[in-house]
Amino acid sequence: MCGTLRASDAGKKAVLMGWVNKRRDHGSLLFVDLRDRSGVTQVVVNADRNAAIHEKAETLRNEYVIAAIGSVKLREVNTVNPNMPTGEVELVADDIRILNESKLPPFLPSDTALTNEETRLKYRYIDLRRDAMQFNIETRHNVAKAIRDYLSAQGFFEIETPFMTRSTPEGARDYLVPSRVQPGTFYALPQSPQMFKQILMISGFDRYFQIVRCFRDEDLRADRQPEFTQIDLEMTYPQPESVWGVVEGFLQAAFKAAGEQIDTSFPRMDYDEAIRQYGIDKPDLRIPPFTDVQECFTAGNLQELAINPNLPVIAIRIPKVGELSRKERDDIKPMFHSKGGARVYEDFKRIGNKYPEAAAAISKKSGMEEGDLIVLVAGSAQAGPQTALPAHRKVTPAELAIYASAGLLRLALAQKYADRHGIFKKTGDPMKDYRFLWVTNFPMFEWDEGEKQWMAAHHPFTSPHEQDMGLLEQGVDSVNDPQSTLSAVRALAYDVVLNGTELGSGSIRIHRQDIQAKIFKALGMTDEEARKRFGFFLEALEYGTPPHGGIALGLDRIVMILAGAESLREVIPFPKTARAVDLMVDAPTPVDERQLRDLGISIKKPS
Ligand code: ASP
Repeated sequence: MCGTLRASDAGKKAVLMGWVNKRRDHGSLLFVDLRDRSGVTQVVVNADRNAAIHEKAETLRNEYVIAAIGSVKLREVNTVNPNMPTGEVELVADDIRILNESKLPPFLPSDTALTNEETRLKYRYIDLRRDAMQFNIETRHNVAKAIRDYLSAQGFFEIETPFMTRSTPEGARDYLVPSRVQPGTFYALPQSPQMFKQILMISGFDRYFQIVRCFRDEDLRADRQPEFTQIDLEMTYPQPESVWGVVEGFLQAAFKAAGEQIDTSFPRMDYDEAIRQYGIDKPDLRIPPFTDVQECFTAGNLQELAINPNLPVIAIRIPKVGELSRKERDDIKPMFHSKGGARVYEDFKRIGNKYPEAAAAISKKSGMEEGDLIVLVAGSAQAGPQTALPAHRKVTPAELAIYASAGLLRLALAQKYADRHGIFKKTGDPMKDYRFLWVTNFPMFEWDEGEKQWMAAHHPFTSPHEQDMGLLEQGVDSVNDPQSTLSAVRALAYDVVLNGTELGSGSIRIHRQDIQAKIFKALGMTDEEARKRFGFFLEALEYGTPPHGGIALGLDRIVMILAGAESLREVIPFPKTARAVDLMVDAPTPVDERQLRDLGISIKKPS
């Protein structure tokens, strides 16, 4: 192959096949850089040795596919290229065969400047020839293989589940596939194999995994794909810790496959704790947590500052930012998005001038060092955060408003001043400082203000915490009440987080039909509706279902991090745009009348 010849091969005969990466004419000497996925070798064609071949070589253009036949020769010392693995040798051609020509491509794989992404996606086959893409796809293969090998060694079977199936609730819309043989009926593409993997536990397979495509029709945000790949797994009789151990093991293997070393035994944190310390359920541990500095102020101070004394006062600390200019300080306010009445106090210096004792106490409590930036977020005394939402949670809605506003500001400031603190890069963060975390004990339900009802925060098959069964019982008849005790029910659900990115979610499942029925009820589903949508599953639960649980992690995201890529599209061979379009094959497209007729479908003209 084009990347394999070395000095020790000098004197051997060789045949190389690949693409013309570049051709350089130097009078009677003509050089062709020949490329395949393994690398590039320089081929030399000498007119003095073989005029006919030289003449043929002159017709070569970029991206022609050729075979070069000749002998391997050491390069002259002054022409050795130390930047190429094959840089000590060249192939002196005795013959050149043109296996195929190429039109002039819209861009070249060897171009150093990238063309716009639309062109790259339209001509994806050329784009994929680029070194960076070859590396990303190779990384993807290595990572997936390491995970498969690890899980297989742990006794997991890889088992396929159907793509043409029925709806699985994961919070998005379904992609539908019409049935021709049963007109008017539709399959749904799976948002996840959730019910199938649970049924595999009921079926006695004990440990299942699948590296599987999932489909979710969502309003696409910048870096989402309508079809994406999950590492999906399920096991019987687990404690959450058993699932975590498996995940830590396969992540370690996956990182190793990409040349990275990580430790297992990730730290763990309750959801409530994550909110209190970071204002978000996927904390980036590389930046310090918040400090509640309310007690550093006297009651009089708080009154003068018009701060609500019944709510936390959060100090956000961003290390090593240095002195901010007046303008930079003024820029903080517009970065702050208040979630219901929280206010930002961006000028810590001014607070220090007025309340030196409070400022000294805050510096101490928050661990402030020379050059650190401190910004305070608090509830305003006049119009503190108010919301009609549930009072049963440990973190009240009013507190949540402060934590969440501060959490977003903390991330925005850390991002904005990334160049100064150097904890991570602004973009294309290679994330070498891998800070993993398990976040656990999420709320089971989330209030949907639009629908005026409780929704499953994870999915409806997640088991409530054993200690909260009473709250479930108590709340199950007040499903349209935002003050219901349902608000306080915790789930045996967990997320694995890396540097502020959620890599995956899972849970211990409900294995008893009566509890599953209760959850459907709490979600506002009548028995009849539940039977209609999930009857087969509820029935399966009644035939000896062992306790079970599992998780799913996004493969695309993991590969993106390991390849140091900046978007999921860089690690998916044939991705879709933010508008869910495949620019290469041009999908989706209208279909012809006949196909529609066969399916019994007619299309309404857009009005
Ligand atoms: N089905 C879930 C998801 O796709 C993962 C799980 O609960 O195992 O997010």
